[in-house]
Amino acid sequence: MKPETQAIHAGHHIDPASGAVTQPIYLSTTFERAPDGTYPLDYVYGRYGNPNRTALETSLTELEGGVAAAAFGSGSVATMSLLQALQAGDHVISSNDLYFGIRVIMTDILGPWGLDTSFVDTSDPAAVESAIKPATRLIILESPSNPLIRVTDIARIAEVAHAGGAYLAVDNTIATPVLQQPLMLGADFVIHATTKYLGGHSDATGGMVVAREETALFERLRQIQMIGGAVPSPFESWLTLRGIQTLPYRVRAHAENALKVAQFLDDQPQVEQVLYPGLPTHPGHEVAKRQMKAFGGMMSVQIKGGREEAMAVAANVNVFTRATSFGGTHSLIEHRASIETTGTTPENLLRLSIGLEHPDDLIGDLAQALG
Ligand SMILES: *Cc1c(COP(=O)(O)O)cnc(C)c1O
Repeated sequence: MKPETQAIHAGHHIDPASGAVTQPIYLSTTFERAPDGTYPLDYVYGRYGNPNRTALETSLTELEGGVAAAAFGSGSVATMSLLQALQAGDHVISSNDLYFGIRVIMTDILGPWGLDTSFVDTSDPAAVESAIKPATRLIILESPSNPLIRVTDIARIAEVAHAGGAYLAVDNTIATPVLQQPLMLGADFVIHATTKYLGGHSDATGGMVVAREETALFERLRQIQMIGGAVPSPFESWLTLRGIQTLPYRVRAHAENALKVAQFLDDQPQVEQVLYPGLPTHPGHEVAKRQMKAFGGMMSVQIKGGREEAMAVAANVNVFTRATSFGGTHSLIEHRASIETTGTTPENLLRLSIGLEHPDDLIGDLAQALG
C-alpha cells in the first residue's frame, strides 16, 4: 500500500473489547497469565512490551519497509542503544555533521566504555572508504544532516559499509519515510527522533530503530530496550501514532513551504548562503533529487556578518518562534551555535524549521526581520 494508506492503517485495528476505532491507551504495567502459566497475548510487563508501543513499532516498520522496530523514550537513546549493542573496541564511522547530542554520546559517554568513533564528511564516499578499519562495525549518518543540511548518497555509502564488513544506520529524522526510505537504498538500520515530524506537533518525545533484517545486533538492541527500559510511555506512543496518521500530508506541505522560503531567502542581500537541498546550487541537489521525493522542511541560512547579525534577525521575528527542535506545525528559528556544546556550527547560522503556516506569512515575517 501507499504511504498515505499505511500511515492510517499500519499498527491500527478496531479494539476487540469495545469496538473503538482509535486504540485505547493501555496504562497497565502488568498482564495476566493463563492458568497454565503462559501469556496468551504475549504481554508480560510494561517495560517489556505494551500494546500502544507495539502499534507504534508496527507502523514505523511498515512505513520504512523493514522487518522489526524498537521504540525508545527519545531519539538520542535510540541511537545510544544501537551503539551500546556493539562491543568495547568496536569502531564506528559517523557523519561529522550530525545532531550534536549524538556526538556527545559517542565521545563523552561511550568513549570511556571503549567505543572508537571517527567523524568524517559522509557526503564524500572516498573519505568514508579511507576511514574503514578492520574493527569497523557500523557507519552512522544523517541525510539531510543537521544543521549544515549536507546530503549523503545513501546507496553509495551502503556499498562502502558492506564491502568493509560494517552495517549502515541512517538517521532519517529530517527526511521521514515519506520522502526517503534508507532501507530500500541498502541501509541496515533506520533511526528516528519521533519527537520531530513523526509526532509532528511538538508534544511527544521518542525515538525508533527500524531493522531491514533480523540480525544478532538487532536482537541485542531489543534486549537493551527491554531490560534497560528506556521506552516511550503508553501516552507518548499513542500521541506519536496519532501524529503519523497525517504525516504524508504534513511532510508534503512542510516541503512545499520550505522550497518557497528558501527561494525567497536566496535572493536577499543580507543572506550569505541558504543551505537547502531543493536549491539547484546546493552541492547535494542531484543526489537528493535521486534519493528523496521532495527536499524536506529544514534549512539553515547564514547571515552576512557574524553572531550579532544572525541574532538580530532571530530577535525580530513575529510568526516564527525562537525555539529549538523541529518538525512541528509551528515554524521555528534558532541560532544553532547557542544550543550546541560541540562548537562545530558557524556563528552566523540560523536553522529554520518551516511549519504549516501559509508560506506568504512566513516570507513576510522573514522579510521584515531581515529589514
Ligand atoms: C532531535 C534529534 C535527535 C535526538 O532526538 P531526541 O528525541 O531529542 O533525543 C537525533 N537525531 C536527529 C537528527 C534529531 O533531529
